[in-house]
Amino acid sequence: RAKQGGRACFRFHQPQHDADLRQRMRIDHAMRQALASHRFRLHYQPQVQLATGRVIGAEALIRWRDPELGEVPPGQFIPVAEETGFIIAIGDWVLGQAVRQAAEWRRTGLEMPVSVNVSALQFQQADFVERVGAVLREHELPGELLELELTESLLVHDANEALARMSQVAALGVRMAIDDFGTGYSSLAYLKRFPIDRLKIDRSFVKALPVDESDATIVRAIIQMAQALGLTVIAEGVETEPQRMFLTDAGCDEFQGFLFAPALDADNFAERVRSGRDRLRPRLSLVR
Ligand code: C2E
Ligand code: MG
Ligand code: MG
Ligand code: MG
Repeated sequence: RAKQGGRACFRFHQPQHDADLRQRMRIDHAMRQALASHRFRLHYQPQVQLATGRVIGAEALIRWRDPELGEVPPGQFIPVAEETGFIIAIGDWVLGQAVRQAAEWRRTGLEMPVSVNVSALQFQQADFVERVGAVLREHELPGELLELELTESLLVHDANEALARMSQVAALGVRMAIDDFGTGYSSLAYLKRFPIDRLKIDRSFVKALPVDESDATIVRAIIQMAQALGLTVIAEGVETEPQRMFLTDAGCDEFQGFLFAPALDADNFAERVRSGRDRLRPRLSLVR
């Protein structure tokens, strides 16, 4: 272990490091093949309004089953793609696919806003806004039915550049959310400068609700300040009924999580919404 000193540490970490590097190179190679061979898919996780139990949106989440590597979770390949820059190609595919899906749903009578995760590197491309506009036109989707999920780091890194770009995105009618809110470095006061519509409270703050008192305090504070700024708040990773009750009482607007559904393929998502199983029973009362 690291405590045992430098040499042991070196011997311990070096082969590990090489193995990591080999694994990342393997993923990088397989990822490029996967995109070329149409092996990526999108699943859609329902976003649910707390007050009504209605599904009000869908977050597009990438899925990859590789013939050799098996199912590779995004947490494993997205960081590699960000390192190599391949995330730009993946992100462009995701954007096109999600907008295509939203347009198809809309044509069949299901008006469902889709949220797309956008990496900082992708967002910083000079032609990013043009791409978004072109994709919306291609599929004839109103910008209002698309939301981009951005991360706090993007705002902090080059605030002026980010603000300019976000204003152009907003001009397309496209909404923006801050993903994993609370894990980065931005403050709520700082957020006021940006044309943001929604905050997504990171799962790590939700996990121990309602028992953990400091998490409970943080979540209440985020919700109150977001309300003061006129932002909608959605909580990620809601798995239990007590978590949902806490969030409802705290004034949170929406949630996503296994309590309602994991990410589903497009057909299952639509089927679930249409069959009327799109509602969780709203809370009967707030009686304590
Ligand atoms: P994220 O954007 O914060 O997405 C939420 C993640 O939490 C998803 O994992 C989702 O499946 C998972 N999740 C949702 N509800 C629950 C729950 O109740 N409990 C638990 N334990 N987990 C829940 P996933 O799909 O593995 O994605 C992980 C991350 O990978 C995403 O975090 C996002 O940062 C990234 N990612 C996924 N798809 C894309 C994409 O198309 N583009 C980019 N740039 N990143 C993506
Ligand atoms: Mg997200
Ligand atoms: Mg998130
Ligand atoms: Mg998260």
